[in-house]
Amino acid sequence: MKAGVIGFPVHHSKSPIIHGHWMDKYDITGSYKTIEIHPDNFQNEVNELVTNNYNGFNVTAPYKEEILSLCYEIDDIAKAIGAVNTILIEDRKLLGKNTDSFGFIQNIKSQINFNFKNKKCFVIGAGGAARAIIYGLLNEGIQEIYLTNRTKEKAESLRKFDEDKIKIINWEEKENYIGNIDILVNTTSLGMLGKRNLEINISSLNKTTVVTDLVYAPLMTPLLLDAKNQGNDIVTGIGMLLHQARPAFEAWTGILPEVSKTLEEKILK
Ligand code: NAP
Repeated sequence: MKAGVIGFPVHHSKSPIIHGHWMDKYDITGSYKTIEIHPDNFQNEVNELVTNNYNGFNVTAPYKEEILSLCYEIDDIAKAIGAVNTILIEDRKLLGKNTDSFGFIQNIKSQINFNFKNKKCFVIGAGGAARAIIYGLLNEGIQEIYLTNRTKEKAESLRKFDEDKIKIINWEEKENYIGNIDILVNTTSLGMLGKRNLEINISSLNKTTVVTDLVYAPLMTPLLLDAKNQGNDIVTGIGMLLHQARPAFEAWTGILPEVSKTLEEKILK
């Protein structure tokens, strides 16, 4: 396997640890590297990966949308989300995929017993990750999504996924709508190390509401700590990162790898 992750910057990426772990485990020879590409040289350097016989690569910020224009083919999920995080190179052509919604859903299913069908969800944030989350929730048969974002227009633009099921909530009024939901998802970067906290009083949540956060540094965000302290089930964000990598590894090697405790511990070190 010859693969890597492109981004700018990209040295912080944990993907080499994940794919390196699976290459060892499944006896796959080759390499998985971080590949920093300067925006001025984007197309040339992507072409170089093709010339150098890469099987594919992951795509991280700021290129998840820009890469669309270089793809020969884009799968339906990536098309719907409007972003690509995984490239498979076949016959020197780029095939674009998006595995983030798979990662989000599989992470929840692997950590708790939760069926999305006919449930109500509250999504905080309307950036790139939120698009994948909303796609995944709708695909799982969610009944209703309350969506809020600091910049309301961005939330409004995501109603296109399903105008009947998605209801936009004003940022200042989010606490009024969380009392009757089954799952609360933070998709903003608030709560990340070095960023401000997500300020939200969750005391009106039902005891059965699941709380999950895409932020995984720290693993226990202030939101998750609050939820845990008041007895709600929580799902941390690191598993999404691990699960979204599985279909990429499968595309390049034919093996759909497992997420193990050992891998989770390795990644959290
Ligand atoms: P993005 O496209 O830049 O979106 C950022 C989101 O955060 C927007 O909704 C933005 O609101 C909101 N936000 C940022 N600063 C804010 C503030 N001060 N007050 C209120 N809202 C604020 O980023 P993204 O790609 O969606 O990623 C979002 C987070 O998810 C990041 O922390 C990322 O690391 C994490 N993530 C995790 C995984 C995983 O595998 N666990 C996967 C993908 C992403 P505005 O629209 O108003 O700016």
